[in-house]
Amino acid sequence: MFELQDAFARKFQYLRLSVTDVCNFKCQYCLPDGYMPDGRKTFLTLDEIRRITHAFAAMGTSKVRITGGEPSLRKDFTQIIETVADTPGIEKVAMTTNGYRMAKFAHEWRQAGLTAINVSVDSLDPRMFHQITGQNRFHEVMAGIDAAFVAGFEQVKVNAVLMRGLNDGDLDRFLAWIKDNPIQLRFIELMQTGEMDTLFERHHVRGALIKDILLQQGWSQKVKAHNDGPAEVFFHPDYQGEIGLIMPYSKDFCASCNRLRVSSLGKLHLCLFGDYGVDLRDLLSDDQDQAALQRRLREALADKKATHFLHQGHAGMTPNLASIGG
Ligand code: SAM
Repeated sequence: MFELQDAFARKFQYLRLSVTDVCNFKCQYCLPDGYMPDGRKTFLTLDEIRRITHAFAAMGTSKVRITGGEPSLRKDFTQIIETVADTPGIEKVAMTTNGYRMAKFAHEWRQAGLTAINVSVDSLDPRMFHQITGQNRFHEVMAGIDAAFVAGFEQVKVNAVLMRGLNDGDLDRFLAWIKDNPIQLRFIELMQTGEMDTLFERHHVRGALIKDILLQQGWSQKVKAHNDGPAEVFFHPDYQGEIGLIMPYSKDFCASCNRLRVSSLGKLHLCLFGDYGVDLRDLLSDDQDQAALQRRLREALADKKATHFLHQGHAGMTPNLASIGG
């Protein structure tokens, strides 16, 4: 029975599960100084991940995205994929990655049950890529994308955050790239999180501006199915790839919200920009607690708000997206 529905009739069949806060990249808009180790944090164990996934799946979740931090930094990452994929009711297992281990592991992950990959590539210019991410690994990441196709993934989604004065000039290069490649390029509008006011003011590009450019160049917007998430997707007859725009500041962004998040520390977050997380961890150490866990999820969902408060400059408790699984 489908139980993950809120007071606004939104259905949440999609779970974003963060398995670590640790990241080896230093993206300017996320972790510019790199990940700061905190010995007190213990991330979800494989058993805890299994219990969370089971509880969500029993309530109707069919898609799980494994994210972080950088999820592939976990030594047991392939087992995490297997654990999620083996859960009855879970049909899609996706991951979001910076791609640096993909060339080596895409095949193994696919065998383990991974069905979709999103990889972040903020620039197609290796120098700009290095400048934004703090890592000189552009060619490794691109080799990872090739490896994903060879491993049998039919489409790869690529996330890019376009920023004024940095990589916004890359738009044409990105478009040329997807002309003959089955890539869904997803431009994520820069979001203002707690730690980056100045960067936001300096580099924010409105998603609506990119949308105007696409429409002028003959791209058309796909009609959304009722359970599609907030991305607006565009296609063009001359292009094999497509474009997704993720515009958290747009008027109806939250109306199509279909996702819930669990952080690497086992907290349920009803919104990326919410003020609090609901602790689930006390119910994750024993299979006997499944019913209580589901009850807590149900009760928490009753409190999900209609929208975030980003427009009022309120980014909630999120210092950066790595800490909650962006
Ligand atoms: N390490 C993985 C990766 O690099 O994709 C997964 C975690 S990362 C936090 C997930 C996505 O969030 C990335 O595509 C990144 O570009 C995006 N992101 C992080 N901070 C952001 C911000 N302030 N605004 C927009 N997107 C952001």
